[in-house]
Amino acid sequence: MHFAPDVIRTYGRLFVAVAALACLTAPVYALDQIVLRKDQREHEVAGRVLVEAEDGGLLLMAPDGVLWTVPPEELVSHKETDEAFKPLAMNELSARLLAELPSGFEVHTTKHYLIAYNTSKAYAQWCGALFERLFNAFTNYWTRQGFELRTPEFPLVAVVFADQASYARFAHSELGDASSSIIGYYSLATNRMTMYDLTGVQSLRAAGDRRGSPAQINQMLSRPDAERTVATVIHEATHQIAFNCGLQTRYADIPLWISEGIAVYFETPDLSSPKGWRNFGSINPSRLAAFSQYAERRPVDSLQTLIADDARFRDTSKAVDAYAEAWALNYFLIHQRPKQYRAYLQVLAEKKQLIWDNPAERLAEFTAAFGELATLETEFQRYMAKMLR
Ligand SMILES: [Zn+2]
Repeated sequence: MHFAPDVIRTYGRLFVAVAALACLTAPVYALDQIVLRKDQREHEVAGRVLVEAEDGGLLLMAPDGVLWTVPPEELVSHKETDEAFKPLAMNELSARLLAELPSGFEVHTTKHYLIAYNTSKAYAQWCGALFERLFNAFTNYWTRQGFELRTPEFPLVAVVFADQASYARFAHSELGDASSSIIGYYSLATNRMTMYDLTGVQSLRAAGDRRGSPAQINQMLSRPDAERTVATVIHEATHQIAFNCGLQTRYADIPLWISEGIAVYFETPDLSSPKGWRNFGSINPSRLAAFSQYAERRPVDSLQTLIADDARFRDTSKAVDAYAEAWALNYFLIHQRPKQYRAYLQVLAEKKQLIWDNPAERLAEFTAAFGELATLETEFQRYMAKMLR
């Protein structure tokens, strides 16, 4: 996931949560009309106010699923309307997306996904089938664990560019210079995935490769060389599902060891079967290998630094270790502490938006769910040592 919560974080403390309306029937939200001034331009946005700050700032959700943070100095006017907030339907969102994207894009839709693409239709179909299969595997998995998920409020959008260069140009506004090295990303602000056609990547192609049908594409991307690249796409798609089916809330304080840990837990591709997902949630060999290397120099306070804040994930020199440890910790807890893990996820699922915990609060919430760190560390070490033998 590419996240930019630092921007929000500086502002977040000023917010207070809007009192939730206790409602027995399906909630009806009002549609508010906002005018804001950004980059010396006025923008009109209609949407549902999620958070209203004491200082007048707003967090607004537009009908296309985009989140707008509006600091008080950018807010020009705020009017309530008599209309109800209604998410855009698939066809309305298609039209809006096509108007926003460079020309030449088309749309492929599946049950949950809206895929805007300017590459081959076959590639868009391959993506759609992969995402739907992931969606089913993911939601079945949590439902079986006893977690109540909801149907996504918005179609899940993926924007697929024909090649890396045009993707990087488009993604530059969100990713900056990192866009040339990031294969794809899910944005918490827009709720969209952005990526490019991997079958055009020279290093993944072999002589005689054809990519005219989803089956040919599948064959090409099933090779071991493509595993990590495809895993990245699945990783991002997992984030999107988690944030849209109620497991996590966008702009709520979900610790990265959990949100990234879950994404790496499910990222292993399985392109072999048209229906199930054979290795869903099984050992992730590349994360285990990374953890094995880290284990040799792992400091005694490693769990504490992983849990207390997100710093290790944001530091490029420490991120590989942090992701590996997050994978290992989630794997350990899911298998050894399933009930506590589910209860902890429930606590996180109920977190209010734009309220950020400090390290002491995060640690307290963790130990309330799983017990003292020292005890857990001993068991975690023993468990991982067995796996690494
Ligand atoms: Zn991620």
